[in-house]
Amino acid sequence: MKPAPFAYLRPTTLEEALAALAGEQGAKVLAGGQSLVPLLSMRLAAPSMLVDVNGLPDLDHVHCDPSGVRIGALARHAHVLGSVEAAEVQPLLALALSHVAHPTIRNRGTTVGSIVHADAAAEMPMVLRLLEGSVDVMSVRGRRTIPAAELFAGPLESTLAHDELAVEAFFPALPAGAGVAFQEIARRHGDYALVGVAALVETDGDEVTRARVGFVSVSDVPVVVDVTHALDAPATAALAELDPAEDIHATAAYRAHLVSVLTPRVVAAATDHARSRAREVSPA
Ligand SMILES: Cc1cc2nc3c(=O)[nH]c(=O)nc-3n(C[C@H](O)[C@H](O)[C@H](O)COP(=O)(O)OP(=O)(O)OC[C@H]3O[C@@H](n4cnc5c(N)ncnc54)[C@H](O)[C@@H]3O)c2cc1C
Repeated sequence: MKPAPFAYLRPTTLEEALAALAGEQGAKVLAGGQSLVPLLSMRLAAPSMLVDVNGLPDLDHVHCDPSGVRIGALARHAHVLGSVEAAEVQPLLALALSHVAHPTIRNRGTTVGSIVHADAAAEMPMVLRLLEGSVDVMSVRGRRTIPAAELFAGPLESTLAHDELAVEAFFPALPAGAGVAFQEIARRHGDYALVGVAALVETDGDEVTRARVGFVSVSDVPVVVDVTHALDAPATAALAELDPAEDIHATAAYRAHLVSVLTPRVVAAATDHARSRAREVSPA
């Protein structure tokens, strides 16, 4: 199908972009177009105007420092995945991004666009939530930071106002003594996950002090469950808080089965990762 008619604007300054979003209630941001264009073509979205942000300057950065990784709105998935520094500061980024779609889509789709698109079947919203990151947004009213815990309102729904442009996502660095792991089951590598699971485990010596698990494609928003007090049965603890969804791709029972298989695996792998990092810092 062809999209419904819309006006098209390609601003070259941030001010122009924000003014356009403020002035047109039905306007939508166009970033990589890898989610929005299919929605337009199927007429599942019919914005009155597309504000194409690809001409804006200084938004394609991947900045790393000891506190974490800052990803600009125009940084493509492939750019973030290719950053050796980002993978060192926060290894879960590369682990998860290698499962996001296929190379051609990663060359165009943006990591920030994926986050604000808020698809619970997408890897990066869950990763941001698990790591307790945030997104900075701008509008004509100024700039504000939205913590990941307040970002995902429902299926394909973020808490951004209609006139807000997400300019940067922040992923905190992996602290010393912490480890991460990610696994997913998809029909083909690069397809949306039937279920994806990530773990963030913090240790102090041999003791696990905190363990959290995030789930992709299980509920209609990204979900994170704290399993610190259930390390011998993390899947049971997770399933007590999850209500796996049924759709054309998988039954609820199959999703629950995948959760029960993947959860202990990623918790164990993240624990091993934490311990091996701790050994690197203080060799015996
Ligand atoms: C065949 C196929 C397979 C895919 N498989 C996967 C997969 O396995 N995992 C996965 O995570 N993703 C997958 N994707 C989606 C891909 O990652 C998209 O690139 C991503 O979800 C959206 O990023 P985008 O830059 O293309 O955003 P767009 O498509 O341009 O925009 C998506 C939405 O976000 C809004 N938006 C975008 N950027 C901003 C911004 N800076 N501020 C405010 N609003 C903004 C838009 O208005 C729109 O509502 C797949 C896509 C395709 C076509």
